[in-house]
Amino acid sequence: MSDDLLFDRQHLWHPYSSMSKPLPMYKVQSASGVRIKLEDGRELIDGMASWWSVIHGYRNPVLDEAIKDQLDNMAHVMFGGLTHQPAIDLGRKLVALTPEPLQHVFYADSGSVSVEVAIKMAVQYWQSQGKPEKNQLLGFMHGYHGDTFAAMSVTDPVNGMHHLFNRVLPQHLFAAAPATPFGEACQPEDLAEVRKMLEKHSHELAAIIIEPIVQGAGGMRFYSADYLKQLRGLCDEYKVLLICDEIATGFGRSGELFACNHAGISPDIMCLGKALTGGYMSFAATLCTREVAMGISEGEAGVFMHGPTFMANPLACSVANASIQLLLDNDWCSNIRRIESLLKEHLLPAVELVPVSSARVLGAIGVIEMAEPVDMAVMQPALVDAGVWVRPFGKLVYIMPPYIISDEDLATLCHSIRSVIEKVYKL
Ligand code: PMP
Repeated sequence: MSDDLLFDRQHLWHPYSSMSKPLPMYKVQSASGVRIKLEDGRELIDGMASWWSVIHGYRNPVLDEAIKDQLDNMAHVMFGGLTHQPAIDLGRKLVALTPEPLQHVFYADSGSVSVEVAIKMAVQYWQSQGKPEKNQLLGFMHGYHGDTFAAMSVTDPVNGMHHLFNRVLPQHLFAAAPATPFGEACQPEDLAEVRKMLEKHSHELAAIIIEPIVQGAGGMRFYSADYLKQLRGLCDEYKVLLICDEIATGFGRSGELFACNHAGISPDIMCLGKALTGGYMSFAATLCTREVAMGISEGEAGVFMHGPTFMANPLACSVANASIQLLLDNDWCSNIRRIESLLKEHLLPAVELVPVSSARVLGAIGVIEMAEPVDMAVMQPALVDAGVWVRPFGKLVYIMPPYIISDEDLATLCHSIRSVIEKVYKL
């Protein structure tokens, strides 16, 4: 092992990693388009888009240029008392593209922070309505909203390992995950538990928080648009705000620009992140309705109590502007349909393999669910040896490639996954 890799192993935390039993790391030399080049010279086709974010591929010339141009102007300036063109341009785009009721934009540093901001907005809104007792949240099993404390507190309590943090985590309510699959009408039974919880707790509930249509890190589950529509109705009926976490699904990934468009609904608060900057920088945004924004602003505090140092970082805003423009200029919709039909053709047949329990595709997301959790120590090197970058978790071997992936690379990616499963399970 090289000195660098040894240092990395001994000193650097990686996501969800162990310092005593670290798994092997692959050192990346560079990345371009849909190829990740390792230091040892191997090139991998990227199936992950660096966790949903790199939608236009690595080293995209338009995005590179946007950052360079902005660098010549200013890398950063504080947002308290000052504003700038990239923030204004991005605000205009976000307000125009998201559902009409969402009119106010709060720029945050990461997806988790944007969830913190959303929760704070909901709580502060009810505080200013003279209902401070409405400070609880209702989340869902298999939900995932980030790793900071408030975000973790509304994430699936089992996956999120709440027992580790019980003494410091705010306690919230959880309903069973939506059961009706995507594409199906939702029977009232699927929402019966949520309705019951609202009947009992709406007086103390600030908001319901949900990932629209796709529950991501909590299980890659695709659920009914009708469910989401009915959930919106219940929130209105019981006067509870709806927060949609579109951090993973935003910007076309599920086949609609925003997943809540599948249901034709608008949340009261929406979180965006990941693909917002085309995966170039950590950046996010929390949007809210005029009702929420004015409620907060005319309440006791008179202001919204949040203001990070790097709020509306100009480099991040500029690359986000360029990324959104690129998406709109490139007929993202037919492109996602192209990816969806290729995933159906090349990935879904893996369902016939014995260790696979199910396979599903929605938009540019392809999922193979194994019957048992995969052994990462075996699976990861096998995938790398096969020339693809795919990072399974739990029972899930899933891909959400950059949108620029060619038909040929996507077919290779899918077939490589299949042959790795066949090899690892000795089929
Ligand atoms: N919400 C969802 C739905 C996510 O998928 C993620 C990231 N995996 C987050 C929130 C947290 O975002 P970040 O990792 O940027 O803090």
